Amino acid sequence: MRPATDTAARPINPAQAELKWINTFTGLGPDFYTELTPQPLPSPYWVGRNRALARELGLGDAWLESAETLAALSGNQPLPGTQPLASVYSGHQFGVWAGQLGDGRAILLGEIETPQGPQEIQLKGAGLTSYSRMGDGRAVLRSSIREFLCSEAMHGLGIPTTRALCVTGSDAKVRREEIETAAVVTRTAPSFIRFGHFEHFSHRNQHAQLKTLADYVIDRFYPECRDAKQPYAALLQVVSERTAHLMAAWQAVGFCHGVMNTDNMSILGLTIDYGPFQFLDAFDPGHVCNHSDEQGRYAYNKQPNMAYWNLFCLGQALLPLIENQEDALAALESYKTVFPDALQARMRAKLGLPDEQAGDKELIDSTFRLLAANKVDYTIFWRRLCAFNAQSGHAPVRDLFFDLESFNAWALQYSERLAPVDSAHRADLMLKSNPKYVLRNHLGEEAITAAKLKDFSQVDTLLTLLQSPFDEHPEQTSFAGFPPDWAASIAISCSS
Ligand code: AMP
Ligand code: MG
Repeated sequence: MRPATDTAARPINPAQAELKWINTFTGLGPDFYTELTPQPLPSPYWVGRNRALARELGLGDAWLESAETLAALSGNQPLPGTQPLASVYSGHQFGVWAGQLGDGRAILLGEIETPQGPQEIQLKGAGLTSYSRMGDGRAVLRSSIREFLCSEAMHGLGIPTTRALCVTGSDAKVRREEIETAAVVTRTAPSFIRFGHFEHFSHRNQHAQLKTLADYVIDRFYPECRDAKQPYAALLQVVSERTAHLMAAWQAVGFCHGVMNTDNMSILGLTIDYGPFQFLDAFDPGHVCNHSDEQGRYAYNKQPNMAYWNLFCLGQALLPLIENQEDALAALESYKTVFPDALQARMRAKLGLPDEQAGDKELIDSTFRLLAANKVDYTIFWRRLCAFNAQSGHAPVRDLFFDLESFNAWALQYSERLAPVDSAHRADLMLKSNPKYVLRNHLGEEAITAAKLKDFSQVDTLLTLLQSPFDEHPEQTSFAGFPPDWAASIAISCSS
């Protein structure tokens, strides 16, 4: 193992010297990680910068402008105060125990104090680690732009997620299905700990380390569990509830993750590891966005059950600490009520229903059935529905359907339900619940195509737009249109 980075080195610029590194993960001890140095990325350049996030983190406007930051976040120059490391975890991939995985291309620089509380800063694609297995430790420009934009899009939608401060690129070649170029995404989150971290120590019967990890997560993120009769069962329950809320948010907005393996499930209930994700275009409940997912395990409509399956693995992993199987099962039970309740609440908001009434579930189910039967564009339907008016007709919504008889029957049912609802209140609720802009695959593709030719302006435009996706942005409506025909042929797999 390499010694820790020399933290006594002279600060490389005043803005960086102000960062307060606390690096609590290293306190877990060497069983949890390997210290290492990022691999330099030749002649890096900025691809995208998230100045809003930099400000939120108190990094100062100058921080993302400096050449030193560009070098540091490309892995070319150590940042004083950091203790770069790759963590070890295991996981179930596509339903099968995969054994040890670990940060194969993610390097945690450390953790800083910010106005938002402590945040870890991690480089994704900064070179080989002890856990790279057959991989090259790199990320390509294409997938890095997708992660950068989508994590910010999710944040703009109010959905818990890891975030991204910037993408730096290089002309260095990376081999995938074809030759591409390398990039590094700088991600932030309070923690990047995954279900797989717990599975790792449990499967190795390393119960002391398992307890150390669970105690760390409880103390830092779920201190209320300490007071429970069984703190580790309480941890499982709170993670189940967070995950249930996350799944409700994904389903309501039409987000498909694509690779919901247990190593891609955050212990904080964040959306993590953006790979072959997709926002639905036409509503197809069985849509599979990952071309490597031949069985359709992670189809859109299977995500909530897959999350439960993953929570079950987490429960299994925590069993040596929970001790009593009944307690573990009881902790998981909450998912079965929290998820449907959270989804119903989100769908009611999308329909503009401020309170709950008998029959709402039936209305929501019939809406999903109608959208599926007519393959209606999911985002456009909901946004147009905000202006639905039972009196003046609803041509913009009706025009989305080919089975008009079914639509008319549904519109009647919906109008009756809306009758007692104040229309101004309804419109307000709906406009805040139905985004006008989501990161559709073709929008990402267009930005990527331009970026490959060194035009990063669309990355910047999309980033700004997606940070406030519920606003109208009248000058940007071209980003709110139907997908072009070629969007259906975009094939995105695990390889990135
Ligand atoms: P994913 O499904 O992309 O989250 O990746 C699953 C595992 O493969 C994780 O351990 C990753 O760190 C690792 N991995 C993915 N791509 C690479 C790569 N290019 N080099 C090294 N490890 C990788
Ligand atoms: Mg992963």
